[in-house]
Amino acid sequence: MTTTANTVTSHPQKTEHRMQNLQMVDLKRQYNKIKPAVDAAIQSVIDSTAFIGGPQVGHLATEMAAYIGVEHAIPCANGTDALQIALMALGLQPGDEVITPSFTYMATVEVVALLKLTPVFVDVYPDTFTMDVESLRKAITPKTKAIIPVHLYGQCADMEPILAIAKEHNIPVIEDNAQAIGGSYTFSDGRTVKTGSMGTISCTSFFPSKNLGCYGDGGAIFTNDAALAERLKMIANHGQKVRYYHEMVGCNSRLDAIQAAVLRVKLPLLDEYCAARRTAADFYDKAFAGNPRITTPVRAANGYHVFHQYTLKLNGVNRDDVHKQLADRGIPSMIYYPVPCHKQEMLKEYNTANADLPVTNMLQDVVISLPMHTELTEEELTYITKNVIEITG
Ligand SMILES: *Cc1c(COP(=O)(O)O)cnc(C)c1O
Repeated sequence: MTTTANTVTSHPQKTEHRMQNLQMVDLKRQYNKIKPAVDAAIQSVIDSTAFIGGPQVGHLATEMAAYIGVEHAIPCANGTDALQIALMALGLQPGDEVITPSFTYMATVEVVALLKLTPVFVDVYPDTFTMDVESLRKAITPKTKAIIPVHLYGQCADMEPILAIAKEHNIPVIEDNAQAIGGSYTFSDGRTVKTGSMGTISCTSFFPSKNLGCYGDGGAIFTNDAALAERLKMIANHGQKVRYYHEMVGCNSRLDAIQAAVLRVKLPLLDEYCAARRTAADFYDKAFAGNPRITTPVRAANGYHVFHQYTLKLNGVNRDDVHKQLADRGIPSMIYYPVPCHKQEMLKEYNTANADLPVTNMLQDVVISLPMHTELTEEELTYITKNVIEITG
């Protein structure tokens, strides 16, 4: 765009105050802070030429299991594979029902359909955006063979009642922890545990923009069950325990050593990264407090929210207009997710489009996520909040 003296004087504010280079997730600034350690870690893998498997992946598995507080961690190629392998390891059969919220990233549900299982959608709470427990209770049938709560936007689902219902019906729980690694949950007896440590199996993603992101694709699967861990490991490795003896149909889902090396540099910083996200969320909360058009995200009292996303609900303004106007002022925002899973073309054979999910259907039109990452400055936050307030005003 060419700027003439004229346009500068006719839009003095826009030109003077427009902030350069705001991003939803700023991975470059984060990298700059850890560059020597990351570069050395990557170089050491190249020097070793152990690109697949090897000590980096093994050490990461041990360190991840210790961090989450479970017995077994199995690194794999990405978070979607992690969910698929989890379902495969549970031995589900075509037609078995899997309960998940519709208000999630499509990957949670795609793997259900891929394995010819039947997705059964439940609603979410309008304040915390996580699985509605009453909706879950009503959705259980004799065919229910798994429940997948999603810790959406960095907030843990209300696991205590979910686990109780699952136990009552003897149904395994797979936590989708792709967005909440580093978060935690406190049970009514006071016990506080990490997200991803409560389910029969839990899954996470190391996609670069996730709270613990690598520099490519990556994921991991967690469990306390030794037999299940064995099956998960085999499935991720072509169904073999002993090389070239394939006991079951599996897939090829490996985390490469370069990604493991990057993750081993970043894992010790994860708690700090989560705290930085929460500080940015605090700033947003304060700036928007009491604004009638803006509902800030609610933090469940029994959880430690790690703000993978900072997601507002807008009231009485057109969300898509706000999104556009923010973009005009150089402020990125995202709609997670514009079409909930139950309405996706992908699932048309399941006829879920008209499912009774009033909260999900409402949220689809009002949510908007603002820039959220570990490097947001007060100056940037001030600029973003000032403009959001002006535009929604
Ligand atoms: C990112 C994500 C996944 C998938 O992870 P990938 O590593 O991208 O395959 C699954 N579920 C949720 C909720 C996610 O946000």
